[in-house]
Amino acid sequence: MKKLLSVVIPVYNEEKNVTLLYQGLLKITNSLRRYRYEIIFVDDGSTDRTWNEIKDINQKDANVKGISLTRNFGHATALQAGLESALGDLVVMMDGDLQHPPELIPKLIKEWGKGNKIVNTLRINTENIGFFKKITSQVFYKILSYFSSVRINAGEADFRLIDKEVLTKINNLPETPKFYRGIMHWIGYEITYVKYTARERRYGKSSYNLQKMTELARAGLTSFSVRPLKAIIAIGFLIFVVFSAGLLYTLFYKFLIYYDAFSNSFILVMLIMVVTGLMISFQGIIAIYLVDIFNTSMNRPAYVIRSTLGQKNNA
Ligand code: UDP
Ligand code: MG
Repeated sequence: MKKLLSVVIPVYNEEKNVTLLYQGLLKITNSLRRYRYEIIFVDDGSTDRTWNEIKDINQKDANVKGISLTRNFGHATALQAGLESALGDLVVMMDGDLQHPPELIPKLIKEWGKGNKIVNTLRINTENIGFFKKITSQVFYKILSYFSSVRINAGEADFRLIDKEVLTKINNLPETPKFYRGIMHWIGYEITYVKYTARERRYGKSSYNLQKMTELARAGLTSFSVRPLKAIIAIGFLIFVVFSAGLLYTLFYKFLIYYDAFSNSFILVMLIMVVTGLMISFQGIIAIYLVDIFNTSMNRPAYVIRSTLGQKNNA
């Protein structure tokens, strides 16, 4: 019996990319004669023609399956939906925006064939990635590795191959949303790396900005209940910054220019405001942890499926 290769691709408004990606993948799967394959597109609530494109491809190629989520749940959750329906002996996950070259898949499989159960890709440099994105993603990973015990490389994306054994263990983890980049390290299996150069995004634009990245880091839950708490953190932080600056200015002015300009009680009030700002922020952060605990204890499913193509509906 030939081994089954699953390719899982979360897509959000990638109507132009799905067909191109499918064609690219087809070349690869055709060359992999010793494997059967299934390609699972997870439509993460796209508002364009993405789902129709997936349907069209499914009509022509029954190896292409589709999962349509009821709304936009975010990349990690869409990926989770796909991974939970993947039947493969080996599973490749990749982005649907053509930034992850399908040509790399045979290399990943080769490493898998040597007994490696997690084969990650490592992006070495992205042409035209944009200065801001480059800096933010570097800072993001610096901060993340500072605050957590797992080490994640800056060029690590959700483009990797995992063995069924690892997949099952990851699918069985109860947390949502799943921060896969971190989980791959946490799960403990040795990780092998294959390097590649990322291509430019072909169509559409990256939907990850700084806010989404921090969201990911926090492994947070639904934004509606967290939004006011985030505002609290921001307000506290603003108070902290403004009064810190004020305090510094006051101290400089008092001690370097004119001692009687500001009274001691004025300085004391400034100091209290600095601490108050910090405390408001910290309370917001603690509250967000509480929201996570609350949401987890609520035990809601991570996503809701509207319809599927080519597979049993497991919703
Ligand atoms: N994506 C998704 N849901 C979202 C945002 C993105 O399923 O809410 C998909 C998107 O279609 C792409 C992948 O996740 O296939 C990565 O998204 P993007 O390219 O925007 O992320 P980046 O490359 O900037 O990390
Ligand atoms: Mg991308």
